[in-house]
Amino acid sequence: MAKKTTSAVAASIDPNLAPFARRVDDLAKLSPQAAEIAAFYRAVIPLLRATTQHIERLELGASYIQAQLVMERPILADADLPIDIDLHTKLFVALCRVVENLTPPTPSASTETKANKSLFSNLFKRGKPDIAQLMQHIAAGDESSLRRAAATQIRLAVENGQLDLMAVFGTLLTGNQAAIAENANALKLDWQMLAMLAENSLRPAFRAWANELSDIDTTGWHSGMCPICGSLPIFSEIAGKESERKLRCGMCGFGWRYPRLVCMSCGCDDHHQLGRISGEGMDAEKYFAQTCNRCKAYNKFIANFDPLAVELLQVEDLLCGHFDVEARRLGYTRSKNQIAFDV
Ligand SMILES: [Zn+2]
Ligand SMILES: [Zn+2]
Repeated sequence: MAKKTTSAVAASIDPNLAPFARRVDDLAKLSPQAAEIAAFYRAVIPLLRATTQHIERLELGASYIQAQLVMERPILADADLPIDIDLHTKLFVALCRVVENLTPPTPSASTETKANKSLFSNLFKRGKPDIAQLMQHIAAGDESSLRRAAATQIRLAVENGQLDLMAVFGTLLTGNQAAIAENANALKLDWQMLAMLAENSLRPAFRAWANELSDIDTTGWHSGMCPICGSLPIFSEIAGKESERKLRCGMCGFGWRYPRLVCMSCGCDDHHQLGRISGEGMDAEKYFAQTCNRCKAYNKFIANFDPLAVELLQVEDLLCGHFDVEARRLGYTRSKNQIAFDV
């Protein structure tokens, strides 16, 4: 991975983000915890979009791209990625500040179901700051304060030079979560918060590169892994006149065709093994989940008139979070997002 030097992160709000804001508002209505996550995305979507505009192009040759796809290797896995460490560090610090400035949710037992609470606790882990701060915040009984304190500690560790972000990005790209945890634990930092912030800091680069490669021919790509960056899909999307299935990558946002009646985790096409969790009411039209009894994985499907904008993938995933709750209740698991790069 090559190091590059500085560019600015513009934090201006793009008026074209209005449709995204509406979906974020829908998320905020689900529960007080969801409102906190919605506030996070409301601030983060424009920051990521602004950073995407500063990403250096890859300009990969057609023969290299073709060779990678033929070898069933994700295109970026063997490319020399021009990671601009200053740009991504600046974004990382800005994301820390977003978490630090989140307003705590107002507790409301009537709107927050137990299932929703456990779902959102899992998706947006609370922080684990040092003992002195922990005691203060436990006294206040405030998980949101824990998250804010965890983000402050991580930001200070970067600003004081204790935490080497380039190394964190490197371990994230190799999919080595244990190494991130070890690094964070040595500095008494919350590793899940660190991984979440680092992943979001890298997203603009991957989105820009996927956009650059959006015209590649993936007809020969039969894997459930993203042909651009090697991550696992966040969900399946059914869009357009043909209603074909595309897997959408949660990291770079790329979408690639995949057969509808095949498990994306293990490739099982035995219809006796594949099941379906359907929604009710309005949900029945828009969402369902495919389950696989061979590997016990599930994959959510979202039907849309047009393909979803890359900025909305995480928000839409949360908006149908009740399918995750139901699938887990039935004993199915969701494949973890992981990127595996040689860096
Ligand atoms: Zn990808
Ligand atoms: Zn399977």
